[in-house]
Amino acid sequence: MIDIKSMTLEEISQSLRDMGEPAFRGRQVFSWLHRGAASFSEMSNLSRPLREKLAAACVITVPTVACKQVSQQDGTIKYLWRLQDGNCIETVLMRYHHGNTVCISSQVGCRMGCAFCASTIGGKVRDLQPSELLDQVLFTQLDSGLPISNIVLMGIGEPMDNLDNVLRFLELVNHPEGMNIGMRHISLSTCGVVPGIQRLGQLQLQLTLSVSLHAPDNETRNRIMPVNRAYDVDTLFDACHQYFARTGRRISFEYAMIDGVNDSDAQADLIARKVRGMPAHVNLIPLNEVRESPFHPSRRIRAFQKRLESHGITVTVRRSLGGDIDASCGQLRRRAMAAEEG
Ligand code: SAH
Repeated sequence: MIDIKSMTLEEISQSLRDMGEPAFRGRQVFSWLHRGAASFSEMSNLSRPLREKLAAACVITVPTVACKQVSQQDGTIKYLWRLQDGNCIETVLMRYHHGNTVCISSQVGCRMGCAFCASTIGGKVRDLQPSELLDQVLFTQLDSGLPISNIVLMGIGEPMDNLDNVLRFLELVNHPEGMNIGMRHISLSTCGVVPGIQRLGQLQLQLTLSVSLHAPDNETRNRIMPVNRAYDVDTLFDACHQYFARTGRRISFEYAMIDGVNDSDAQADLIARKVRGMPAHVNLIPLNEVRESPFHPSRRIRAFQKRLESHGITVTVRRSLGGDIDASCGQLRRRAMAAEEG
């Protein structure tokens, strides 16, 4: 069966032309799909024979809500979606002043193995399809009734480990006849998969690249992020400098503050040295404690921030949302999996 929602407008139009349909049919079908149609029978401007032909050849992905939590504190909504094959993925809707932002997963699980992260504990199950990436935005908007203006690819999974599907998703969600979300309203976060950063740089998209740095020295980074053994700190920063040179876009460095591991002044100074020559933004994240991990939140966030700022770096400290629900990475999915395993 063909996963029609993963197809571009041009591909759908071409397939319909091959079936002897007029050129505008593709546009009609694309528009139905991107408004959340769950079946071809809803597509009332298509003839019955065409609807039946499409239904025989194609599936329309539709996730169902396996669990939904709404924060009483700040309105953050966390969805656990059940996919057609029974796998579950998390999506979080955050309500900021600048608009509603959805944080989507890029894979079912993750194989990057970061030592402080809950979403990698069970490994990677499979990649998500472009349709399944899009559905997280589409059905979060439909279910919540809240218009979504921003997307961050910062949920479970490594986007650069599923880059073909992610790039296709970007094309779909950005399409004027689809959800029409502008590239400048999209952020993509990577743990530092250098070939992916290079490929993205070549495309010169206007999205924001976030790099999960978490340590500026190989000794510490090797210890907490296995990806660093494939692409070390200098290789990563070379790729970042090249990315900036190509795109002119400022990179955002994510930095989860871990007590006694990555929170020294010497490490702040080293970050400053590594980013010299490009405008950088460092986002300090209070570490979320993960039961299975030995790491604890740093008590030096303000001091570290000041030290970075003394080098002229723009620093923000991430505000934590959804504290009363399982809103951070991987927690809801892990709980649901544990419950299913009994
Ligand atoms: N794989 C991508 C995107 C998913 S992780 C990446 O690594 O960037 C989203 C962000 O949450 C990353 O910056 C990740 O390092 C961070 N993160 C993971 N576990 C965390 C924890 N326990 N506390 C704080 N941040 C965490």
